[in-house]
Amino acid sequence: MDVSGEKYIDFLAGCGAMNYGHNNRHLRKAMMRYLNHGGIAMSMDLSTQSKTAFLESFETHILKPRSMDYRAQFAGPTGANAVEAAIKLARKVTGRTNIIGFTNAFHGCSLGALSLTANTHHRASSAPLLNQVTRHPFDQYFGPSIDTAAQLRTLLEDRSSGIDLPAAIILEVIQGEGGLNIASRQWLSSIQKIARDHDILLIVDDIQAGCGRRGTFFSFEEQGIAPDIVTLAKSLSGYGLPMSMILIRPDLDQWSPGEHNGTFRGNNLAFVTARAALDAYWANDDLQVAISKKAETLRTRLEQLAETYGFAVKGCGLFQGLEVDDEDLSRDIRTRCFQAGLIIEASGPKNTVLKIMPPLTIEPQILNDGLDILADSIAACCLHSPHVAPISSSALKKELFA
Ligand SMILES: *Cc1c(COP(=O)(O)O)cnc(C)c1O
Repeated sequence: MDVSGEKYIDFLAGCGAMNYGHNNRHLRKAMMRYLNHGGIAMSMDLSTQSKTAFLESFETHILKPRSMDYRAQFAGPTGANAVEAAIKLARKVTGRTNIIGFTNAFHGCSLGALSLTANTHHRASSAPLLNQVTRHPFDQYFGPSIDTAAQLRTLLEDRSSGIDLPAAIILEVIQGEGGLNIASRQWLSSIQKIARDHDILLIVDDIQAGCGRRGTFFSFEEQGIAPDIVTLAKSLSGYGLPMSMILIRPDLDQWSPGEHNGTFRGNNLAFVTARAALDAYWANDDLQVAISKKAETLRTRLEQLAETYGFAVKGCGLFQGLEVDDEDLSRDIRTRCFQAGLIIEASGPKNTVLKIMPPLTIEPQILNDGLDILADSIAACCLHSPHVAPISSSALKKELFA
């Protein structure tokens, strides 16, 4: 609700930081109870009951059922802090400096993380950035017939390719900011094999696609890969409280004490809400079942829109979008949605992918109401702008000049 009492449906969910909805009552209750009992709020990196309880729930509800063995490190409040910690650790452990990042990647806006982020708009302010970063095309970057994982292997195995053997390869399994591009199972397993063959660490940045966005807790858990380091942030605390974490393969935890520190790594309110979120939503598979049902509804409705207007559907889970292929149209649709009470953002290199990422806990009726607003807004924009009816202008141009 805004200052004048207007209500909004939220298809942005704090860019994936509000996966359990705003002011979630389970999480709020846990936090209020903790505050009312005078629980400590700030503890730097000392052990507290709330931190221990969170780690226990994470072990019980997330790692153990998935047979995963990781050490957790609280890297600092933001996602970018987690990415920085992951890069630093990979460099320290391997003794190498180069890091491979992918086209359309987004890893944050601090200098190290920014160096691995692909978008010029984000990087422009801070050039020159870390120069030991090699950019490589993501899965399907050149279309379905070119295997960019095979290209990466060739480049890394050729001493004359000019690319130094990297400390790590960092990737998002689904590129959120990059336009909801999904890495295929096949591509991911090829990348993992390259990493294993050359003692390169595989870092999965699960800051946006994790915490259930895809339907599973981790975006990679049904993809046949086992990353060496995983970054988590955004919805980890569940309540919009800053908290990030990296998961480290135990033998890679080679930090010396205090080597990567930071004052704000003991946000106990975040530990409390993070634990409450795990206990409320990840102790059984109710949430996952509900996500997959809503994801199906979303898919069906997006496919109808795509068919009517010549758009393409992207993404999966509650992490889907419509490629409308026209910057002005994308902006006009979002403006109209907002006026009609729907918050929706765009992603992709030209902001032409309308991104639908509601809270995972959204009621099916509200999801449908939001999709109605989206459908009406698209219809209105396509009617009113001659250059986009009935299919988007660039698609039309392609047709006209084919
Ligand atoms: C948002 C995001 C980050 C950066 O997180 P911040 O908390 O904004 O620093 C890193 N990686 C991915 C994939 C993200 O979506």
